[in-house]
Amino acid sequence: MTDVFDRQKRIQGWSQEKISSKNVLVLGAGALGNEAVKLLVQLGVGKITIVDYDEIAEVNLNRCVFFSLEDVGKKKCFVLKEKAEKLNNSSEITAVDKRLEELSEEFFAGFDYCFSCLDNLAARIHLNAKCFGKIILIDGGTNAFNGKIQVVDKTACLECSLTKSDYKILWKKYSCVGEVLDFMSSKMPALATTTSVIASMQVNEFIKLVHGLPALVGKYAFFNGLKNEVVIYEVSQRRDCPLH
Ligand SMILES: [Zn+2]
Repeated sequence: MTDVFDRQKRIQGWSQEKISSKNVLVLGAGALGNEAVKLLVQLGVGKITIVDYDEIAEVNLNRCVFFSLEDVGKKKCFVLKEKAEKLNNSSEITAVDKRLEELSEEFFAGFDYCFSCLDNLAARIHLNAKCFGKIILIDGGTNAFNGKIQVVDKTACLECSLTKSDYKILWKKYSCVGEVLDFMSSKMPALATTTSVIASMQVNEFIKLVHGLPALVGKYAFFNGLKNEVVIYEVSQRRDCPLH
């Protein structure tokens, strides 16, 4: 039988061994999580853990590649695991039906990379705090034709890049003054094409990091699908960052 990974192994400098030895965490089994897990399995990543407490709804079907009408009402993490396993048998996939807040510090030990595929800023900031200095975080977010990704290692974190309006959103969210639409809130306009681009960019950063190629560490990339433009911003470590 031909090797499933034959074509990618032909890429100069490619190490399938490095890819298959990785243990990754995917937070969120929604639109970005579906796409990211699809790509991670296609690449042959050794261990993938998917965390999500939510159930599949009809509104998820326009951009979640593994979900269909018959899955409505089922838990996202389990359906994603079950369907992704059918792509090939090279990845060991674990599904965890929990909220981010329910995960202990110990839970995060042992992962090489964490993909933030969450649908709201507050959860992404929470995950940023859990991972900072311990696991490399590859964060993604989308809003209609736009999206952004950021790689957080040990220098500037996700909070270092927050603007005043981001804090306003967080403040509103925590102070319960009603529904607020933030960058990638679950009720934001969402497009399957942008989802694919952003999840692909997240996983592409992972490939580069694994192979020791220059990646987006300490920077973030803003994708504008209307202009066909990707702008890279440097993120400097903020002195008054609440995290470090
Ligand atoms: Zn910071």
